[in-house]
This record gives sequence, C-alpha cells and structure tokens, in this order.
Amino acid sequence: MITELLKEYGVRKLNERIKYPKERHWPSDVAKCLRALVYQWRGETAQSPDGRLFFVFNDGELHHKVIVQQLEDTGRIAVVMKEAPLRDKEHNISGKLDALIKFNNKHYVLEIKSINRYGFEEIKRDGPKEDHTIQLQLYLHFVRILYQIDTQEGILLYKCKDTARFYDFIVAYNENVVQDFFGKLKVVEEHLSKGTLPERPYEITDWHCRYCDYKKVCWVGLAHKEIVDLSESELSAIIGELLDIKEKRKSLEEVEETLSKTIKEQLSQKNITIAQIGDYVIELREIIQRRLDTQKLTEHFKEQLEPFYKTTTSKRLDIKESG
Ligand code: SF4
Repeated sequence: MITELLKEYGVRKLNERIKYPKERHWPSDVAKCLRALVYQWRGETAQSPDGRLFFVFNDGELHHKVIVQQLEDTGRIAVVMKEAPLRDKEHNISGKLDALIKFNNKHYVLEIKSINRYGFEEIKRDGPKEDHTIQLQLYLHFVRILYQIDTQEGILLYKCKDTARFYDFIVAYNENVVQDFFGKLKVVEEHLSKGTLPERPYEITDWHCRYCDYKKVCWVGLAHKEIVDLSESELSAIIGELLDIKEKRKSLEEVEETLSKTIKEQLSQKNITIAQIGDYVIELREIIQRRLDTQKLTEHFKEQLEPFYKTTTSKRLDIKESG
C-alpha cells in the first residue's frame, strides 16, 4: 500500500538529484562508463531511474553522518571539516568531502563507504575497490589545493551495514592517479565537442550495461545482432561459459557444505548451541519441519486429488559435452 508511495517518492527525489544534461563532473564519475557520461552530458533520454537508488544514497549519507559524529565522540579524533563542499573551477568538478579529521597530530581525508556483508567480505579479502581509492585521491588533492592543508594520507573506512563491522585502509596521496582522472574527463569533453561517442567498454550482458540508464539508446540497432542473431561460435562460447559457471557453483556448494558441516560438528562435539567466535556470533539450532507426505497423500486419496493439481509449463535446458 504505502510501498508504492515510497517508490514514487524515490523516483521523484532521484530525478531532482540527477541533472540531465549534466552540468559538472563529480568525483563519483570515476566509477562510471565514459560513454554513459557523454550521454548524460548531452542530455540524452535516460531510462526512468530506479527509485530504490535514492534510498540507497540516502541510507549511505545517514550512515556517514552518524559515523563522523561517532568518531568525534570518541574524544580521540578532531573533525576539522565535515561535508565540506569542493569546487574545482579549472576542471569543472564539484563534490563533497565526508570529513577531514585530525588523529595523532596528522590530518587525514576520510571517505566512508557503507556496504553489505558480501561486499564487506570481498573488501577484507581483496582490498579496497579501485574507484573508491581514486575518489579518495581526488578529495586529498582538493583538500591540498583548495584548502591548502598539507594532507599526505587518507582513510577509506568501510562499514558493513548488515553487521555494523568496520574495516579501514590508509591510502597515501598519489598525484598521478588524480591526473589520470583529469585525463578521462578530457576524453569526455573531446567527445562532446566532436559529437562522437567513446567505444562501449562492456558487453550488453555485463552488469554495467544491465544497470545503465542509457542501455536502450546505447545498444539501439545492435540488439538484433547481439541478442538474437548469434553465430554458432558465439552461441558455443555462451554455452561453454554457462557450463563453466554451473561447475563453479557446484564446487562452491560443495565447499559450503563442507565448511558448514565442520562448524556444526565442532559445535556439537562441544555441546555448544550459541557462541561468540572472533567477529561472529553463531547459533546451532534444531529445526523441526512438518511437511505433507505427497506420496502417502496420493496413495490414500488417489484420483480424488486430481482437482488439486496445478499445471505449470517451463522449458528445461540440458547441455552435454559432445566427444
Ligand atoms: S549501456 Fe554499457 S556501454 Fe553503453 S553507456 Fe551504459 S554502461 Fe556504457
């Protein structure tokens, strides 16, 4: 009932927030496809945005505000600036800094990212995302140039929204990264002045394209060839990829089963039902499920059951490797 209301509200707020055509570059453009940026600058008709994005942005901003306040409340960190506007007229870039903090007599630019538990585990395993690091480098640059504060390092602080855990990385200032980004903006501007478009850096099946507001305009005319009229070798490559993914999923499920079994055995041997282990709280519960035994039902009621069956049709894909 009120869900629809919130959905409409999200779309309206998002439309107020995103400017078509684009008027300035943003530090968050680092994560965007150059071709999509050119479309946005041109004011090309975009697909109606998904209202959920507004709530994602809004939740992120709330998290960031609260975290900066909590850091200040520790009494060990001085917040020198928060949500400070950044405006670089030379490169026509606008942005907003999460915070500039002083800790142990050193200034740090603070960039906060709130993510889900899967992203959080990935960050812990593989390190920070490249676009997050570039964004932080830009903020370091602007604090040094615009505010004339000699800041050599930034902190990329991740918060897991599901478990409220934190993980942080110190990032040293690197001017080359910033110049590379300015170079990308130049490419966008050159395309705009020539009326051309950058090559598509992704395939239509890539998640960048699937979630892109310009998917329709970007792939118009190519849809038939790319989606329907595939050559045998293209289709064969897709089948190979599908089998590969199925295989990976199977082995991941096996690993999941083994890991889960190990944990269950360890807890059962020690008679533990609930425990705090490292960063995790785990609980081993006995679940009792009651299900109708369809075999017995059929045996008992035979054809009387017929009217209760519902028929659905779907297509099953079976693939076997030949030779
Ligand atoms: S559809 Fe893909 S290639 Fe085209 S602009 Fe969007 S992200 Fe870039």
